[in-house]
Amino acid sequence: MTANATRVLVLNSGSSSVKYQLLDMADGARLAVGLVERIGEETSRLAHTPLATGGAKREREQPIADHEAALRAVAGELAADGLGLDSPELAAIGHRVVHGGKKFTEPTVITDEVTAEIERLIPVAPLHNPANITGIRVAQALRPDLPQVAVFDTAFHTTMPEAAARYAIDVETADAHRIRRYGFHGTSHAYVSRETAKLLGKDPSEVNVIVLHLGNGASASAVKGGRCVDTSMGLTPLEGLVMGTRSGDIDPAVISHLARNAGMSIDEIDSLLNKKSGLIGLCGDNDMREIRRRIDAGDERAALAFDIYVHRLKKYIGAYYAVLGKVDAVAFTAGVGENAAPVREAAVAGLEELGLAVDADLNAVRGDEARLISPEYARVAVAVVPTDEELEIATQTYALVSA
Ligand code: AMP
Repeated sequence: MTANATRVLVLNSGSSSVKYQLLDMADGARLAVGLVERIGEETSRLAHTPLATGGAKREREQPIADHEAALRAVAGELAADGLGLDSPELAAIGHRVVHGGKKFTEPTVITDEVTAEIERLIPVAPLHNPANITGIRVAQALRPDLPQVAVFDTAFHTTMPEAAARYAIDVETADAHRIRRYGFHGTSHAYVSRETAKLLGKDPSEVNVIVLHLGNGASASAVKGGRCVDTSMGLTPLEGLVMGTRSGDIDPAVISHLARNAGMSIDEIDSLLNKKSGLIGLCGDNDMREIRRRIDAGDERAALAFDIYVHRLKKYIGAYYAVLGKVDAVAFTAGVGENAAPVREAAVAGLEELGLAVDADLNAVRGDEARLISPEYARVAVAVVPTDEELEIATQTYALVSA
């Protein structure tokens, strides 16, 4: 790596999409951002914004057959702005990898053995790890000489004690099938808990934070002195909070009940719980903006969906308060957490005895910066802390390759 190699390309490869950002770690500047969608279809779409040149967003619809074609198209867009993958300024490529199991506790330089281990984890992440591996292979083929780093969604949660990570089922069965609570959104929980400490003017080791990552997927975590001690997602991203389309916590007997009484197959039940449940299952919409509009228009189903969402959220705040013993801050992040003031207000309402309160005026303020929304008298800080998973992946990748 040359001394002026300070750029990191971050790749987030999904089953039919690739999101990417090129960052310069000398100053954290974003040089380009983009997205390839509907890979494998006739109507694939590429959207690319060259922030470095101040150029306008470029969008094209064209068939993009596979991930290799997608990454070649991205490389072409970057090259057109003088930011090509062959640039000596590119230090590394950082890959978001969803499932790292128990083994990957930190960002890891990708070798054949690392890829093989990510492959071995496919049974516990059938939707995500195959796409992540494809992204890695294609990037390696494009720049075989460049370090590639895997940053795992599960890594931040590997500090959970066994009491939090184990399900209370037969130990041999659990271990034989790698069944335990892994947690997800770890990159976001790590970043937001650190940024929250910064907002309080403290070192992460000095504060206990409950992080509420509320996007289309949603998860909570209890972070004690910078280390995760519990999180709401489990073996898969289905457990925990009510989400856009996922049920979150449910009595597992519902599954056998549906199989026996509704004649549903395992795949149908899987699809019901992952794609047709949560907010969309409850009221037909998964976008919190639309749900709020419907509530304002007097829609009772939307109001009930909101209440169920908030009830679960409040339960997790209480649970993690108890897990942590002492809480310094509750941080809201991601699409809903950063934007939906009514969710923040309702989740914290009635928790004054726990030292939690939201100031209505502060809560109504919109902005891109981390900010406090609790009144000065509150014992526990309530904060809105925008997440930035790409910056965190780039930071961890660069720290590893420049060490
Ligand atoms: P994410 O997965 O973090 O991108 O979050 C996406 C979700 O955030 C959407 O499905 C919406 O429910 C929610 N969201 C985004 N913007 C707003 C907003 N202005 N108000 C309320 N909810 C929002």
